Amino acid sequence: MENILEVKGLKTHFRFDEGIVRAVDGVDFRIRPQGTLGIVGESGCGKSITAMSIMRLLPRSAKIVDGQMLFRYPDSRNIEQIVDLAQVDEDGRTMLEIRGNRIAMIFQEPMTALSPVHTIGEQLVEAIRLHQDLSKREARNLGIEMLRKVGIPRAEQRIDDYSFQLSGGLRQRAMIAIALCNRPLLLIADEPTTALDVTIQAQILRLIRELQEEYAMAVMIITHNLGVIARMADEVAVMYRGRVVEFADVDSIFHAPKHPYTKALLRSIPKVDAPRTARLLSIRGTVPEPFAVVPGCPFHPRCDVAVAGLCNSGEPPALLPVRNGHAVACVLETEESRRYA
Ligand code: SF4
Repeated sequence: MENILEVKGLKTHFRFDEGIVRAVDGVDFRIRPQGTLGIVGESGCGKSITAMSIMRLLPRSAKIVDGQMLFRYPDSRNIEQIVDLAQVDEDGRTMLEIRGNRIAMIFQEPMTALSPVHTIGEQLVEAIRLHQDLSKREARNLGIEMLRKVGIPRAEQRIDDYSFQLSGGLRQRAMIAIALCNRPLLLIADEPTTALDVTIQAQILRLIRELQEEYAMAVMIITHNLGVIARMADEVAVMYRGRVVEFADVDSIFHAPKHPYTKALLRSIPKVDAPRTARLLSIRGTVPEPFAVVPGCPFHPRCDVAVAGLCNSGEPPALLPVRNGHAVACVLETEESRRYA
């Protein structure tokens, strides 16, 4: 296995009194070492639940019911291990060794991830000492170094600040410092810039890229923003209703998209050079209610090219390769590629 992470057929479902929500319902993708995978889709498509499944930080009502998440990493003795994160105990030794150490995560809103009652320094020292055999002083010095690295001015003083004393941009930087203090192999960034203004967004994305290069780590960036995808990703997984409907390198997604949902997402991006009278295009209809069971292709009620009898019955189309690592879950596309194969 050459990839750092391979997710195959992952299903994470929520059980409520009203029924089952199939938040993640057969997700497939892979991340290469040091590569950047962008996961894009509208809210509620299962992007964040996929990330929480990888981190094994799901709420009690959610359960991984099927699939594999194969993660490759060197253990503390530097021996390569491949573990199926779907099978390990979420509170067991393996997951404790991986979470926050080999795989780290940053969130949209640092205020929910950072403790309001501990200083940034206390949180850094705790995160470092959980995985590294360092004294409190050594961990604090490493913490100051991390804060400098992420561009926090006067790091030796600000390390004693509480999160509420920092601006939104500095809080996001502090969270990145905590996430990266153990040099993870994979950073999962869930909408890392959505809550920030445009200038700070650009700075944070640049910072993630610089640190990715310095630490030689892979990044999985989750966003609803195609601009962030264009800027950051090498490969892209487009998600719709708990499934990956298209997977390809970033150029193919933007210049030769295959799935009607990807094409609709791209059409909905405002164009700077469009006439001022031009109407903004949006995707027809809305995402079906979470409890709704949609037979056939989950996108068919909104798809402009759906074929009655082919798209609206049976199982959802599988994600199948069409060419050169490009994969699509659309019966029309996969029929087409088979015809010209
Ligand atoms: Fe549209 Fe049918 Fe393709 Fe689904 S399978 S995206 S409904 S054409």
